[in-house]
Amino acid sequence: TYERELSQTRDFLTQHNHFLIVSHVQPDGDAVSSTLVVGWLLSCLGKKFVMVNEGPIPKRMRYLWRAEEILDLSVTPLDRKFDHVICVDCADFKRVGMTHEWFAEGAQLLNIDHHPTNDLYGTVNLVVPSAAATAEILFDLLTYMGLDLDESAATALYTGLLTDTGGFRYSNTSPKVMAAASKLLEYGVDGPGLSELLLEQMTLPQLRLLTRALNGLELTEDGKIGWVSVDDEDLKATGAVHEDMEGIVNYPRNIQGVEVGLLFKVINEQAVKVSMRSAGTVDVARVAQHFGGGGHVRAAGARIEGTLETIIPRVLEQVRLQL
Ligand code: 5GP
Ligand code: MN
Ligand code: MN
Repeated sequence: TYERELSQTRDFLTQHNHFLIVSHVQPDGDAVSSTLVVGWLLSCLGKKFVMVNEGPIPKRMRYLWRAEEILDLSVTPLDRKFDHVICVDCADFKRVGMTHEWFAEGAQLLNIDHHPTNDLYGTVNLVVPSAAATAEILFDLLTYMGLDLDESAATALYTGLLTDTGGFRYSNTSPKVMAAASKLLEYGVDGPGLSELLLEQMTLPQLRLLTRALNGLELTEDGKIGWVSVDDEDLKATGAVHEDMEGIVNYPRNIQGVEVGLLFKVINEQAVKVSMRSAGTVDVARVAQHFGGGGHVRAAGARIEGTLETIIPRVLEQVRLQL
């Protein structure tokens, strides 16, 4: 039960003293926020911790409390391994990326996540598929542990809810999410400011990348699947960075009649990352799982080995099977 998982989580946090906190590769708002909220919680408990990610965190999230302390392991490797690791917003062990190199052999893992495809890889698992964001679970955990929030923790939690619900618009925006958001606003969170910064604002290179990607938009004959692709050349031509690709996938999905929108990001000559968004009929998590990825019914992804030319027809075929 949820109650038991919460109490096991509390014990994991109170019984050990030095933690490594990690989230998934190419972290989104929920991943960054959840990393920071766990750090905030551990500070309250007087524990030691190091927050890391495989790579850099998105620039627009640096306003968050102690965000600059999340170490980019591709630049700053650690000098020790950790026996106690907390993984947030990671549906499976692969999602932690290279950070696992700093997990000690036999390390105990606390897995806090909200993906229905989570495979419960933790020693302790706090996994709630009905939660809109990992931040929602952390909100419950802080309440359960009787910790009083402050504005920085509230801002991080709100950021996770805001980004994973697409601005409180997606179908995961439950009454519980709205109630939590309401409480967080009472701690002084700047709701409209965060929406503007995280959901509305674009950099010029980001807009140019979007324009360029949409020029290559393709649709199946029946108009039910739409897709775009981006590669390094697109980034170079527009001056955009990797994180600017986020959000592009919504455009093909938003076309009337499209059931599934896809974004193919070429990682290198051997691999492509595909992002999938569903209008509701198709469970894209199942499609993603077919390719070794995962996610949610309406938003999922996978990293697939191969070239764009071979991968696109394979993914279209799997989506068609679900239509
Ligand atoms: P995005 O398309 O924004 O990268 O990810 C959409 C959703 O799918 C997120 O919930 C994300 O965690 C999940 N997801 C994306 N890529 C992968 C992947 O390679 N493996 C798994 N298990 N989940 C993924
Ligand atoms: Mn995430
Ligand atoms: Mn999430």
